[in-house]
Amino acid sequence: MKEETKVTEKEIAGEVSPMMKKYLETKQEYKDCILFYRLGDFYEMFFDDAITVSRELELTLTGKYCGLEERAPMCGVPFHAADIYISKLVSKGYKIAVCEQLEDPKNAKGLVKRGVIRIITPGTVMESNLLEEKKNNYIVSVYKNGTSFGLASCDISTGEFSATQIVEDNNFEKLLDEISRFNPSELVINPFFEQSTEEISKVKKCFPNVFISQINDDKFSDKYENLTSKLELNIPRDQINDEYMGKGRFAISAANGLFAYILETQKTKLDYINKINFYNITKYMSLDMTARRNLELTERMRDKAKKGSLLWVIDKTSTSMGGRLLRKWINNPLLDVEKINERLDAVDYLKNNIMVKGSIIDELKKVYDIERLAAKISYGSANGKDLISLKNSLERLPNIKEIIKESDSGLIKEIHDNIDLLEDIYEIIDKSIVDEPPMTIKEGGLIKKGYNPEIDKLIDASTEGKNWLVNIENSEREKTGIKNLKLGYNKVFGYYIEVTKSFLKNVPKDRYIRKQTTTNSERYITDELKEMENKILGANERAINMEYEEFCKIRESIEKKVIRIQKTAELVSKLDVLCCLAQVAEDMNYSKPEVDSSGIIEIKDGRHPVIEKMLGSGEFVPNDTTLNEEEARLEIITGPNMAGKSTYMRQVALITLLAQMGSFVPATSARIGVVDKIFTRVGASDDLSMGESTFMVEMTEVANILRNATNKSLIILDEIGRGTSTYDGLSIAWAVAEYICDKKKCGAKTLFATHYHELIQLEDKLEGVKNYSVVVKEKGEDIIFLRKIVEGGTDESYGVHVAKIAGVPKSVTTRANQILSSIERKNILNGKTIEKANKNMISGQLDMGNYKLAEIATEIDKIDLNSLTPIDALNILVKIKEKMK
Ligand code: ADP
Repeated sequence: MKEETKVTEKEIAGEVSPMMKKYLETKQEYKDCILFYRLGDFYEMFFDDAITVSRELELTLTGKYCGLEERAPMCGVPFHAADIYISKLVSKGYKIAVCEQLEDPKNAKGLVKRGVIRIITPGTVMESNLLEEKKNNYIVSVYKNGTSFGLASCDISTGEFSATQIVEDNNFEKLLDEISRFNPSELVINPFFEQSTEEISKVKKCFPNVFISQINDDKFSDKYENLTSKLELNIPRDQINDEYMGKGRFAISAANGLFAYILETQKTKLDYINKINFYNITKYMSLDMTARRNLELTERMRDKAKKGSLLWVIDKTSTSMGGRLLRKWINNPLLDVEKINERLDAVDYLKNNIMVKGSIIDELKKVYDIERLAAKISYGSANGKDLISLKNSLERLPNIKEIIKESDSGLIKEIHDNIDLLEDIYEIIDKSIVDEPPMTIKEGGLIKKGYNPEIDKLIDASTEGKNWLVNIENSEREKTGIKNLKLGYNKVFGYYIEVTKSFLKNVPKDRYIRKQTTTNSERYITDELKEMENKILGANERAINMEYEEFCKIRESIEKKVIRIQKTAELVSKLDVLCCLAQVAEDMNYSKPEVDSSGIIEIKDGRHPVIEKMLGSGEFVPNDTTLNEEEARLEIITGPNMAGKSTYMRQVALITLLAQMGSFVPATSARIGVVDKIFTRVGASDDLSMGESTFMVEMTEVANILRNATNKSLIILDEIGRGTSTYDGLSIAWAVAEYICDKKKCGAKTLFATHYHELIQLEDKLEGVKNYSVVVKEKGEDIIFLRKIVEGGTDESYGVHVAKIAGVPKSVTTRANQILSSIERKNILNGKTIEKANKNMISGQLDMGNYKLAEIATEIDKIDLNSLTPIDALNILVKIKEKMK
């Protein structure tokens, strides 16, 4: 992807021009970046960078003399439009180093001093056009040491920073799950991890769009001091011990590595990244990568679109920061019953107090992204408009605080008590910045009249001068009698008076100094004009400079208070999410779940939130669920394709997840005993493109579930064993069900949809298994799906019916029906045999011999006795004997 500029020592040694020599030296330092090299009004790229950029951005490739025989390939973009080009390159996966002129070329002696001021990578962008409003842009570092991992994550557009470590079994899988929690745009890794090629290629497969940067080991120091000198820790340092985090200091190494990388790329102080949150991965419900994807929490599996995901249904947040927090809540369901109930009570309060909720939402709609504005202010990239957006947002705070003052929810009370109205910041902006400032901060027009008398004076002088100029045209016309005398301005010699050729005789030679001749006229200046021009331009320039300086001062004074802004932003986001969940509960008729640690999942009239929304009101058929740690641990669900099995199982997982994130749920009532992990094994996933067979992927996922599920977990198994032969598949499905059901080995609550009707017999065999099926009504040749889950298994498949509905040609479905009835006949023929096989299965031995017998019987049934010769009969007997072996 990245091509290095080929720099020979000779070139650096001095044969190239001085400018190019400097360029090549800088490029040496930033080999893995495309170097945007500022030359006057352009950023230029040279050599391979130029070739790459011209190809990627379809820009013209030119050349520049560089002292060598051949001109250096060159390609450039105007400096004022650089952001757009940089954005495009970053989104295509390039790393950009921006090299600026560090002094005014006018004052430079010799070569203008230049230096790289910032490196832009996918994980370190600050530009709004590269960031999604309601989505965090995470950069994650992974530090591998032995078989353990440290992981740190940061969103530099908001300042969020956290770290953890993985030191238990199955580390690598857990690492992937943890990375998927953040879904980062960039990974920073240590050399040891980079060398683990198999793992790295798995990371690349799992996160195909992630940009990977490697940095040296010395950056991943395990010393606290590097962090504590700049960052506040969420817990006292002496508590970040083995007990809290597990053995080792890998989280600290990862955090140090990430912080070093961020500082190195940003090359500026980042005061808004001021605290680090160390956490243990067991703090949240564990959702592995497959479950996140299969349950379509924040995006659809097929096309990665938000529409059709759980987030799409429940995102009614009013602010961007609320949108980001909601996404975090979905991705990190809680385990702490008390904390979950705090959230649920808050949602309940808001749902019951419609007026309160409505008023908060009205206020929140006028609140901008305070969190990212705070980051921009601290980063030094906020402009006048940003400060006004901040001011307008702060203006809403007193109302918000007032509205929630009577709340009986502990969480909302806490928000109320901690919201800082930030009146001082409001005032600073209100008295200094005009209401509609321009986009840039270097062209004046920012500072309010009356804020700084010096600036006012300069602006007055410049305005006065401009008025004088307007009048000069008239007064000169009168004085000279030149009726069409005009005042003009150009960059070369400033203001001038223009006289057409026919009036040249009227020009007062003593006052007018000729400057330029055009086809039809002459242009003059006068002493008076020049004097005024100096006054105007001087005053203007000084006013602009002073406004800029003043603006920077104002921005810096707010920067000092950035932690307070961040705290309030966090509280406002939380309130936004709570209001959103209350609104969803109201609009979609969700109810408050009872959350406890009973280990029971009992849902009355549960619905699938996404399918329900897609179908429209009243169309979705609700279903009940009962799962517990005793007699109803494992539901075997049978029923034809398209009957609604997957929908039902996913709805149980989603309702559980919604409850644990603190949301009401699509059901008339629900009791949710907190689950520690949700696992899913659903259909063929898109891993096929990764070069693994469907069956291999399926078994890897099953293996992962069996290794990690506990008796507090919830497992969704949608068909397992389909990727191999029937007998293999059935045996595996059977054994997996047995394993999960065994309390000593696993005992997780499980929903298991299967086509292997033989599994129905497990209900009689194993304690904890219950059979369910989806009701289907036959109507003549057709079937109607009733979508109702009832107790008891079924062995009807209706596959051919479904094929018919799907539009498979009639000739094929008719033939399929013929084949089906012939097979069914044979099954009846061999009924006894099958029964025996099933009995064997119940006793735990799957007898393949009996299935062979069934096959042989089918063969015999095919024989047409009328045309059979004795020799044929003999041959068939030989074949049968072969099979019996
Ligand atoms: P299966 O897993 O049994 O093959 P699905 O769960 O994929 O079936 O359901 C097929 C389709 O049936 C879904 O896409 C949905 O449109 C519809 N469906 C499923 N369950 C319900 C339900 N409870 N109420 C209404 N429609 C449903």
